[in-house]
Amino acid sequence: MLLAQPGHIDHIKRKNAGMVYQLIDQLGPISRIELSKHTQLAPASITKITRELVDAHLIMETEIQESGSRGRPAVGLVLNNDGWQFLSIRLGPGYIVLALHELSGAIILKDKFDVPQMAQDELVSLLLNHVQQFFARHNKKIERVTSIAVSVPGLVDHRQGVVVSMPYYGVENLQLGALLHRETGLSVFVGNDIRSWALAEKLFGKAINSNSAVLVSAHHSVGAGILVDGRILEGQLGNIGELGHIQVKPFGRRCVCGNSGCLETVAGLQAVIEDAETLVKQVTQRV
Ligand SMILES: [Zn+2]
Repeated sequence: MLLAQPGHIDHIKRKNAGMVYQLIDQLGPISRIELSKHTQLAPASITKITRELVDAHLIMETEIQESGSRGRPAVGLVLNNDGWQFLSIRLGPGYIVLALHELSGAIILKDKFDVPQMAQDELVSLLLNHVQQFFARHNKKIERVTSIAVSVPGLVDHRQGVVVSMPYYGVENLQLGALLHRETGLSVFVGNDIRSWALAEKLFGKAINSNSAVLVSAHHSVGAGILVDGRILEGQLGNIGELGHIQVKPFGRRCVCGNSGCLETVAGLQAVIEDAETLVKQVTQRV
């Protein structure tokens, strides 16, 4: 006798609903018949799943006029982003930006604060404080918040939500995802800032039609996000694309990573400012 295992059935249901939602996100407006073809799920299952998603205010119906057809417009499904939000946190060298977004990514409101260099424990309390205060300050604008997306400069194990190292703040092995989840109960995604940016270019920006691309950033820090076969390259240690830490001057300036003469010590914002200041001094002394 075959015994049904509710756990497994639940899991399959959730997976199917997730797959349908993702297809509507990517291809919507899309008809139920098209969804059935793409997912290879029976039309009856699609009807049931989409009814549940409509009831949960996750998707909604819209009219689609198929090209070439002059008949009645068909019914298509699109995401219903109304009232669904997420919080993004961007921690950079010396600053933090917290923003509330619609699920589509559009920014509803944004706050920026200075963050001085400090010890790991202090940084954690400061972060948690900022999140609490953000929710308190904007409680009138906040609706259904689904998740928190965090991007930081440094090595990140995004699968575990762990900041492996963030030299600017002296952070090592910080379980940031788990900490924020415990504090808020929300799903938390943690990523390296430049790789997250490269992923955003793939999903919404310049790389939307290409599966392989390299994004190079030379701002506060120097780094790269590498996209291969539509996925961000990370490596076991999350350290692929650490362009800024390739040694270009063997006896150059000391870098935050501990080595000397890294590309970042030549082309990073701080280095460029210091070099410019030195040059200005030399010129004015000569005059
Ligand atoms: Zn370095």
